[in-house]
Amino acid sequence: MPDDRIDRVRLSLAFLPLAAPAGGKAPAGHRPPLTEVAFLFAELGTVDGGSGLGFSHAMHAGGPALYAHAKELAPRLLGEDPNDIGRVWEKLVSSAASAGRAGLATQAVAAVDVALWDLKARRANLPLAKLLGAYRRAVPCFHTPSGLPTTPLPEVVDSAQRALARGVGGIKVTVGQPDVAADLERLRVVRDRLGDGVPLMVDANQQWDRATALRVGRVLERLNLVWLEEPLDVHDVDGHAALAGALDTPVGAGELLTSVDEHGRLMAAGGCDHVQPDAPRVGGITPFLRIMALADQHGLGLVTHFAPELHVHLAAAYPRTAWVEHVDWLEPLFEERLEIRAGRLVVPDRPGLGLTLSAQAATWTTDRLEFTETA
Ligand SMILES: [Mg+2]
Repeated sequence: MPDDRIDRVRLSLAFLPLAAPAGGKAPAGHRPPLTEVAFLFAELGTVDGGSGLGFSHAMHAGGPALYAHAKELAPRLLGEDPNDIGRVWEKLVSSAASAGRAGLATQAVAAVDVALWDLKARRANLPLAKLLGAYRRAVPCFHTPSGLPTTPLPEVVDSAQRALARGVGGIKVTVGQPDVAADLERLRVVRDRLGDGVPLMVDANQQWDRATALRVGRVLERLNLVWLEEPLDVHDVDGHAALAGALDTPVGAGELLTSVDEHGRLMAAGGCDHVQPDAPRVGGITPFLRIMALADQHGLGLVTHFAPELHVHLAAAYPRTAWVEHVDWLEPLFEERLEIRAGRLVVPDRPGLGLTLSAQAATWTTDRLEFTETA
């Protein structure tokens, strides 16, 4: 067998500015509105000239820490066989075990893991979805008009209508104001303006306690929601299980969980009907695939969080109901654009993830470092 090994690792840290502040949790005062997202990029090269591009992200805090952790681990990748993705993932995570097997430590590894999958699919000359085994060529997608539950209602309706005109297949409305009645009125108007035929989701961003979630959830039953997202603190597994059991409306949760273990506990308890993992946040595609397998075993729907450029490939490879969250934030980072058609995001037919870093991404890059075998 020919020698196949990683001989180059390039890391970079970039801060993507947002066109408008976002952040559904702002009213609780936990953190200010989001104005930028940090990205750790990993670009891998092999002795035969192969290459892969991966990324991880951090919101509000954590970008510099991702970059620092990845810098420590990068030399351990040199000389590794890029085909053995699971083993390389275990090596990187295990060699930094004192930093834990969830959160920042594995999110730094995620950028490398995504790059390894991109490399493998590029070499196979297949889109990542096809390498994994796709069930569909396009995945239903929904749009969130605003991350703030206090955005003026006309703006929300206008943004939703523009997204629907662009072709998205559903609209998710952010709630979680201190005055529940204001949330309910907001939803009534949105449903009224968009009509009964538009798939509608509601995201409470963990703003409710158990009693409020049950009471509001019961009122929301008549809106025929596709799902009610993050009604409670996501670590309240028992609360989620009780709520999911009490409501006919499907419950979605999981975007803030950071490992297979955390997702596994939520699913095993019956805490959600749709699981909502984010691949970079759970440590990469390798752990994401394990979450998909568990979700399939539990008969759940899959709703991906953020980064549709990556998640469209993963959701296409899920055997059951799948939705991709459509956010256009990442668009300026890459040369390519996703296509929306008839309510669905089309899986790109380019090899790998099908992504190339843009010249603009370089202007937002604050740090970069390259490691080579000969260095
Ligand atoms: Mg959400």
